Amino acid sequence: MNGFIADSMLGKLAKWLKIAGHDVIYQKESNRAGLLKIAQKENRIILTRDTHISYDNMLFVESEMLWEQVEQVFRNYRAPHEKRKFSRCILCNEELVIIEKKNVKGKVPPYVFKAHDNFLLCPSCGRIYWEGSHYKNMIKMLDKILVSINRGDRRDENRRETQ
Ligand SMILES: [Zn+2]
Repeated sequence: MNGFIADSMLGKLAKWLKIAGHDVIYQKESNRAGLLKIAQKENRIILTRDTHISYDNMLFVESEMLWEQVEQVFRNYRAPHEKRKFSRCILCNEELVIIEKKNVKGKVPPYVFKAHDNFLLCPSCGRIYWEGSHYKNMIKMLDKILVSINRGDRRDENRRETQ
C-alpha cells in the first residue's frame, strides 16, 4: 500500500497522520468519484466517514473524536515508527529534508534561530520546521495514543484532548 487518502470530513485526522509520518493525501472537497479514482490510481487506502462509499481497500472511521480516529487508524494499520514522526510536511505531505542552520537565517524568527540547531525544510512549499514547544506537545500527544494502544485500553484522558 502507498499510504492513505482521507475524505473531506477528515482534515484533522489527515494532519495528525502526517505528523506521525504517514503518507496521507487529504481531499478538501467532497467528491466520491474523485476519491475513488485517486485511491485506485495511487493504490491508497481510503479513510472516510461516508457510509455510501464502498471500496476494497478502505477504513470507515467510526468516531467523530479526533483521538479515537487516530487510534482506529493506528490499530488497523501500523502505528508510526519513532523515526518517522515529523518526517513530512503537514501541508503538502512531502518528505522533509534537513536544511543547514546557516541557510535558515532570516527565514525563521530570531528567537527560534537562536534556540535551535536542527531544522527541516519542505522542498515543495519551503516551510521550515524545528523542534519547538509546539512540536514537543504534538509528540507528547502522539505518544499518549501509542501508549494507550499498547496497553489495549481506552482512557478517558485521551478523549478530553480532542482539540
Ligand atoms: Zn510543504
